[in-house]
Amino acid sequence: LAQLFRPLDLLGMVYRTIRQGIIDMEAMFRLIDTPQEIVDAPGAPALVTEGGTVRFEHVDFAYDPERKILHDMDFTVPAGRTLAVVGSSGAGKSTLARLLFRFYDVTGGRITIDGQDIRAVTQESVRRAIGIVPQDTVLFNDTIGYNIAYGRDGATQADVEAAAKGAAIHDFILSLPDGYKTRVGERGLKLSGGEKQRVAIARTLLKDPTVLILDEATSALDSRTEGEIQETLQRVAQRRTTIIIAHRLSTIVGADQILVMEGGRIIERGTHGQLLGRAGTYADMWARQQAEEEEAQEAAE
Ligand code: ATP
Repeated sequence: LAQLFRPLDLLGMVYRTIRQGIIDMEAMFRLIDTPQEIVDAPGAPALVTEGGTVRFEHVDFAYDPERKILHDMDFTVPAGRTLAVVGSSGAGKSTLARLLFRFYDVTGGRITIDGQDIRAVTQESVRRAIGIVPQDTVLFNDTIGYNIAYGRDGATQADVEAAAKGAAIHDFILSLPDGYKTRVGERGLKLSGGEKQRVAIARTLLKDPTVLILDEATSALDSRTEGEIQETLQRVAQRRTTIIIAHRLSTIVGADQILVMEGGRIIERGTHGQLLGRAGTYADMWARQQAEEEEAQEAAE
């Protein structure tokens, strides 16, 4: 009988892998494309995480051999620290995250997590170590509890509630007509942008990744919601290696390091204070955003 069930185990494993793949696909920064085939090296071991130090060593990358997108990207995010990446649209920020997730392989240099080249370990273990809070969260036509539980296979109701509390959405869920059993998604209750983001945060808390990628939404939430979400995210990022793809500079003032990208290159790097002191691209971006915020505030008054 055990023999009979073995294929079912395998099927279960395949199913779980695919399911994890779907969650991860969702986080693919809305990149709908057929990526090149990424295969594990024969006999590749699983990634062993210690604190989650991420290194990009002279990384070059091209989606298409004719057009190089990243040039000599070289930086380290020490375990538990926060790196923010800023730059104009098309600078290559999301590409960095896709490479770290090993959605594609680098064309030059290497990426390591805790000293291990991510091409030398299993993809599955790399993806398990990394959590992504995407710009836009896709909800499944199912209960809100299911939508959170999706973050980790075998999550219990208690796990789901703990994650929802961590993401500050538990009380909101309890206020819904059917609590955790309330149906959401296209055919159910429509959640606001901020609520959806909290579902994504709760999923990530369940996944409990060593490395966290936050892809900040470009479309602004109202400023109160945004401030609250920011606070939650900061809590989630504590003690985790975090990479923030940022659009609003006000959210990354406290980052340990900020990279300013342009045309696939790092053109400036440093802390917020150091970059302001350089009076370069970052300082200009900061001045422009400050002026815009003031204008918006005046308009609102
Ligand atoms: P944004 O802030 O607008 O999201 P970004 O800095 O994240 O931009 P990327 O999405 O990393 O930029 O894109 C960098 C460059 O790579 C762009 O020129 C883009 O056209 C190109 N690119 C992105 N995805 C692909 C792809 N799948 N195939 C080919 N080129 C791509």
